Amino acid sequence: KVNRTFHPENTLINVGQQTIGGNQVAVIAGPCSVESPEQIVSIARQVKSAGAGFLRGGAFKPRSSPYSFQGLQQEGLELLKQAREATGLPVVTEIMSIKQLENHHEDIDIIQIGARNMQNFDLLKAAGQIAKPILLKRGQSATIEELLMAAEYIMAGGNENVILCERGIRTFETYTRNTLDLSAVLAIKRLSHLPVIVDPSHAAGLWWMVEALSKAAVAVGADGLIIEVHQDPGNARCDGQQSIKPDRFAALMKSLREIAHID
Ligand code: PEP
Ligand code: MN
Repeated sequence: KVNRTFHPENTLINVGQQTIGGNQVAVIAGPCSVESPEQIVSIARQVKSAGAGFLRGGAFKPRSSPYSFQGLQQEGLELLKQAREATGLPVVTEIMSIKQLENHHEDIDIIQIGARNMQNFDLLKAAGQIAKPILLKRGQSATIEELLMAAEYIMAGGNENVILCERGIRTFETYTRNTLDLSAVLAIKRLSHLPVIVDPSHAAGLWWMVEALSKAAVAVGADGLIIEVHQDPGNARCDGQQSIKPDRFAALMKSLREIAHID
């Protein structure tokens, strides 16, 4: 189902009034984690006025340490709904378990399955049973083939609304958090008809690389970007070092519009 040979035309994913895939670049922006009502609503307003089409924000966070902030969980989802209400932006948020999927899919516009769960096959199968678009992130050490087969698990269950995300992979390099594999965008678009977006924030792990990597992603034909934005990165509860401030995000959107069609 994922294979372009049997489905030559690009898949378009409709979310509300918007489309992911096709000839425009979808921009998803927001904080790594939802932290408070003021935080999420103000970032949502700012990314919306800069031209983002979707709001991201983690409520259930997959953290390397069990002692790190695990997200506001249910409360975070409620705050995302408030931010959606305030701005009209559809929300993108991660779920980590079948139980979270069952309990919360109706509240989420695009359900993110994160890098750490890319090969959680039971979760992929459950995602195949629902009627919401799935944003599937490439595993930290997953090959392109493995990513496509993970998407196949979702599609085999009947949910063909899958968006793939290149978010950097583990290599020997330690300067950046991960190594952004831009050639994966080209390979995936050749092998599959599914839309592919790029996450320069988790790929680099460094805020000052985000703008240039975003442009590079667009240059190789990415269908969208997912970018971490925080109004006070120094005090962010998660991933501050890779988050850009709203004014920098607005500047990034302006320069992207010079090279891409963004609605
Ligand atoms: C995230 O988007 O906040 C995240 C945890 O991403 P990844 O699964 O790519 O690490
Ligand atoms: Mn993050």
